[in-house]
Amino acid sequence: MMSDLAAASKRLPSANELWQETLGWHPTQDQQAQFQRLYEQILAANQSLNLTRITEPADFWEKHLWDSLRGIQPWINTERSLRVIDIGTGGGFPGVPVALARPDWTVTLLDSTRKKINFLRTLVADLGLSQTELLVERAEQAGHLPQQRGCYDLALIRAVATATVCAEYALPLLKVGGTAVLYRGQWTTEEATALANAAQILGGTLDGTAVFTTPLSHAVRHCLYLKKQSPTPDAFPRPVGIPTQKPL
Ligand code: SAM
Repeated sequence: MMSDLAAASKRLPSANELWQETLGWHPTQDQQAQFQRLYEQILAANQSLNLTRITEPADFWEKHLWDSLRGIQPWINTERSLRVIDIGTGGGFPGVPVALARPDWTVTLLDSTRKKINFLRTLVADLGLSQTELLVERAEQAGHLPQQRGCYDLALIRAVATATVCAEYALPLLKVGGTAVLYRGQWTTEEATALANAAQILGGTLDGTAVFTTPLSHAVRHCLYLKKQSPTPDAFPRPVGIPTQKPL
C-alpha cells in the first residue's frame, strides 16, 4: 500500500484557469480537495486492484479528471439535476469526477466486476457522495431491469467496447430525450456510419461529435453524442456477449 506520506507528496495541479478556459467551469476549494482525495485513494487501491496505469499527477488530472468532465461539458452548468449512469465505470471514470462536480445529480456506477464496485462503495462513502448508487451487473442485463431501463438523462461510457456495442449498452437505459456520451480516442468516418446505423435500430440518432485536443498533452479525442428519440425495441440489449460477437 502507498503510505499516506507518499500519496500526499503527489499533488494534483489545481489548474483553475485551465478548467475555466476549456469547460467554462472550475472546481471549488472543497472540490479540489475531493479530487486530491480521489487521486490518493485510487493510487492506494491500484496496488491490489489494477485500476489504472495513469498515476502521475498531471496525467491523472488530464486523462481522468479533465477527460471525464469534458464529456459532460454541455450540461456541466445546467440548473437541472440530472440522473446519470456510467457504464463499465472501472475505477470510477467518468462517473466519480462527474458526481464530484455535480453532487446534486444522481450518478449510478455500473460495472460487471464486483471487486471494483466494492472499492467504489468505500470510495464514494469516503468522498461523502450520498447521491451515488452502485450496481454490479452486465450492461446487457441492466438494460432490461425495470428500475434501470429508460431511467437516465445521460449514459456515459468510456473505454468499454466498440462504439456500436456502447450504443447497444447505453441507449436502452436512457429516457426518451436523453443522451448517450461515448468517449473515444481516434474516430473514423466508417465508425461514424456504423454508429449512426446502430443508433437508428436502437431508437437514437447521432446528435453531435465533439473533436478536441486535451489541454496538457494535446492529444486528439472525440465525444459522440447519441440522442434517444424513441423507446428502444424490447429485443435490445441482446443477451450477454451477443452485442460484441454480432455487432449491429
Ligand atoms: N470506464 C473506465 C475508464 O475509462 O477508466 C474503465 C474502463 S475499463 C477498460 C472497462 C470496464 O468495463 C471494466 O471495469 C469492465 O469490467 C467493464 N465492462 C466491460 N464490459 C461490460 C459489460 N458488458 N457490462 C458491465 N461492465 C462491463
